[in-house]
Amino acid sequence: MSALFVNNLRFLDTTLRDGEQTPGVSLNPDQKLEIATRLAAAGVDIIEAGSAAASDGEREAIRLIAGAGLPAEICTYVRALHGDIDYAADLGADSVHLVVPVSDLHIAKKMQKTREQVAAMAYDAVEYAKSRGLIVELSGEDASRADQQFLQEIFSEGVRRGADRLCFCDTVGLLTPEKVAEFIPPLARIAPLSIHCHDDIGFALTNTMAALKNGASCAHVTVNGLGERAGNTPLEEVVMALEILYGYKTGIKTEEIYSLSSLVARHTGVPLPINKAVVGEMAFTHESGIHAHGVMREPSTYESIKPEMVGRKRRIVLGKHSGSASVEAALSEMNYKADDNQLKEIVKRIKKLGDEGKRVTDADLMAVADAVLAIECKPFIKMRQFTATSGSHMIPTASVTLVVNGVEMTGAATGDGPVDAAMQVLRKCVSDVADIRLEEYHVDAIRGGTDALVDVTVRLSKDGKIITSRGARTDIIMASVEAMIAGMNRLLREENEDRGKNPR
Ligand code: MN
Repeated sequence: MSALFVNNLRFLDTTLRDGEQTPGVSLNPDQKLEIATRLAAAGVDIIEAGSAAASDGEREAIRLIAGAGLPAEICTYVRALHGDIDYAADLGADSVHLVVPVSDLHIAKKMQKTREQVAAMAYDAVEYAKSRGLIVELSGEDASRADQQFLQEIFSEGVRRGADRLCFCDTVGLLTPEKVAEFIPPLARIAPLSIHCHDDIGFALTNTMAALKNGASCAHVTVNGLGERAGNTPLEEVVMALEILYGYKTGIKTEEIYSLSSLVARHTGVPLPINKAVVGEMAFTHESGIHAHGVMREPSTYESIKPEMVGRKRRIVLGKHSGSASVEAALSEMNYKADDNQLKEIVKRIKKLGDEGKRVTDADLMAVADAVLAIECKPFIKMRQFTATSGSHMIPTASVTLVVNGVEMTGAATGDGPVDAAMQVLRKCVSDVADIRLEEYHVDAIRGGTDALVDVTVRLSKDGKIITSRGARTDIIMASVEAMIAGMNRLLREENEDRGKNPR
């Protein structure tokens, strides 16, 4: 344990409230319950399940989560209004995040009230929430622009009226570590203090860490840093900063982080930036020859976090920076045995693909290796015909005729769109021979324009084996089909087939 921090730092996760306030994000009650369950299982202390006044769906979600018996405190966001507090109590929440504007800007412009009026509302709400049996976290909205003397008064009196905890909200991300050092210590002496930061200028993590070092005992966070505008402090970043950089045991099950992150990305539809810290696609991916070589010899040379620690795996990808060591490692994973000259030739061709600006997929590597090693790859699946239709008054449908291992099969499927229907029908047609899952689907439109070449990359899995492949066409559906069939063919190749040093 580091003496920099209080002994029992806590986390309040607000993915389901502030995170859901990300424009365009809306989670249904079942999705919210699933996320809350996983947050609690990961060891998050407090889950802000929603804002009870927002909608019926929101109330349904809070009721579900509060009734699920999760090993976490279930909190809801309320304004200083009896109606909001009644919702919270009636829905079975343990606590309220009672938010009161404290800057003169918010008090005068948003509330059109005086400091005295707002303070009186806050005290009344604290007393009312306590009378309804709720734990109260009294939260100062826009605290970083507030008169700190006024803030201390409202917090001190709030605690006298029964508030259990306090929260400093840097509502629009204007805090600095210097201001934290000045503002936080006197407030943290009043009662246990939470810090709630936003990332408008990219300072959310820095300010949160500074507040924790200055006496705050709870960090408000969201998974993937989701939240209004530029988002909140990311759970995964605070946890890993504490664990890795300060040697502080957070009690969070870090190995759950990546699956939690993926779940939230999937349910919210907000994709992760590929270079996002800890959870981004590239966070544990190596391409450069020297780095990849170093990591293969000793991972800590170019990795600050062990991927397993956050539930991830290291990935070596091939491209123009790849050296022969990474290519050889990738080949041996696929059972290819190339001699030195063949390896040199494969590396040369891989670099050429990379130079052309292509992501080098597993299927690309296999195609190159097959060509260089003169291995004949008989396609397991051949396509005879393919049709997909969509329109304003119909369900998108795709039909296909394939020859799978010499047997002709025709099938049809519907989907959320023609591409989805196409993916479904292809999976269905091979389902007798293999359960192939589409793990990831990625589209790049190369150069603007509706006639652009569309580059589709898919990641497929079968019994834990994963392969990436690509299709490139001006027709997005056909590009998807091409990628899918290429990938399936590679996945279905006999795993123990001899890919040795054939004479060339
Ligand atoms: Mn917020």
